[in-house]
Amino acid sequence: MIVAERKPFDEIKSMVKDCKKVFTVGCSTCVAVCLAGGEKEVGILNSELEIARNADGNPIEIGTATLQRQCDTEFLLELKGKIEDYDAIISMACGAGIQFLAEHYPDIPVFPAVDTTSIGINKDVGVYEERCRACGTCVLGMTGGICPVTMCAKGLYNGPCGGTNLGSCEINKDQACAWFKIHERLVKQDRLQNIMDVTPPNDWRNQIPRTTIQPAYKERCEEQKA
Ligand code: SF4
Ligand code: SF4
Repeated sequence: MIVAERKPFDEIKSMVKDCKKVFTVGCSTCVAVCLAGGEKEVGILNSELEIARNADGNPIEIGTATLQRQCDTEFLLELKGKIEDYDAIISMACGAGIQFLAEHYPDIPVFPAVDTTSIGINKDVGVYEERCRACGTCVLGMTGGICPVTMCAKGLYNGPCGGTNLGSCEINKDQACAWFKIHERLVKQDRLQNIMDVTPPNDWRNQIPRTTIQPAYKERCEEQKA
């Protein structure tokens, strides 16, 4: 899932300091699971804002909605007719959801209330660890299911580097060396041959936003473009 954390309250308050009416939009998917921007977090933020602005003698009117997904046109359409009269929108979705919302309402300033931090896993209640950087060329099959782009400090495709130290990474003894782990995993699976050949480096030059079209929708997409 996409992992995010809420921004400090003072930062959010300052972004909307000149607005009399704001509309807060939450998202019920990833950011709700990681306790950053779901319905509950929207309610908490709205209450904090109301209390703080009343205390400042500068009351604020807040409208609100939590969509199933902010990164999906189908759900964004639910806002139609509800938010056009507001001075600003506060989005509690991930960076993709915030941008998509801003694209749909280009006349209204959209402010982010969360910082998007990673693609990660839910390790424990309230604990999320990064596992993927969406590189677009997954090598997990070769590396025993351990991502060298995310877990290795240098993102090496051929490791370990000379800094590996008894299982730790040279940047920090508490950080496991990804390539030590990859080696250990492949030995266990009797697949060490996987990393005997040199893997060519990824071509990072093509860093434009990527579009993924599932095969069943390719034809439809091409027809729409024509
Ligand atoms: S190699 Fe790592 S960063 Fe790339 S897609 Fe796979 S898990 Fe994600
Ligand atoms: S010590 Fe291991 S994890 Fe750290 S940079 Fe070198 S290969 Fe990567």
